[in-house]
Amino acid sequence: MARIQLKHLYKDYIDSVRAVTDFDLEIEDEEFIVLVGPSGCGKSTTLRMIAGLEDISSGEVVIDGKAQNNLHPKDRDIAMVFQNYALYPHMSVYDNIAFGLKMRKTSKQEIKERVTRAAKILDIENLLERKPKELSGGQRQRVALGRAIVREAKVFLMDEPLSNLDAKLRFQTRAEITKLHRRLKTTTIYVTHDQTEAMSMATRIVVMKDGIIQQVGTPKEIYLKP
Ligand code: ADP
Ligand code: ADP
Repeated sequence: MARIQLKHLYKDYIDSVRAVTDFDLEIEDEEFIVLVGPSGCGKSTTLRMIAGLEDISSGEVVIDGKAQNNLHPKDRDIAMVFQNYALYPHMSVYDNIAFGLKMRKTSKQEIKERVTRAAKILDIENLLERKPKELSGGQRQRVALGRAIVREAKVFLMDEPLSNLDAKLRFQTRAEITKLHRRLKTTTIYVTHDQTEAMSMATRIVVMKDGIIQQVGTPKEIYLKP
């Protein structure tokens, strides 16, 4: 639950073309924004700038009135889910979910409560002792979601979280993420190149091409043809 102001964001990679040009958008509390567009159009770069994982060439990210540019990623009230899950293979599911909280010096008791709560929401309570290699793709992605929701952050950023799943799981997990958003109401920015995902999940869709916003609107207004 946060208001996000993305003010005239630009990204120039060294020795590369301009990846993002004048990305300017205000996102209201509880929105589910889907950034859509072809591969290489700058979606991921935009998301990474918001998370603080990539320097901003110019422009500003403001969350609930607070400028983020000089905040370390760890100090931002943001949780991110990646395409490749980024789970630690040698750690149990429990420890994977708890990891970000441990880094932030949360007490053991609180970690336990929050991990248990997240696992319950995602229905993975019976998997907590397992290692990632003992899980299916769908289960791994739920653990990755668990790692994000356990942070209880104001903002979720998701970078193609379903692209490694087969069609059936993609459909199921998509429904799961929508349900999660209805329940937690966390302001979400979700990146995909899949127009069906965009149409079914978004409160507003942002269409990008060559680093530039082409259109912003509700799924009805945008009506992307699959
Ligand atoms: P998308 O997420 O839409 O596929 P990206 O944000 O990953 O697009 O990439 C946008 C553009 O920036 C592309 O032209 C890509 O080649 C370039 N790019 C992405 N990451 C880097 C990097 N680390 N260094 C240089 N160029 C990059
Ligand atoms: P301690 O017993 O050292 O005081 P905890 O009981 O909080 O600490 O947890 C120790 C370790 O046990 C955790 O790091 C975690 O790996 C595991 N653990 C704790 N609770 C659970 C749980 N509900 N399910 C699975 N593993 C757990």
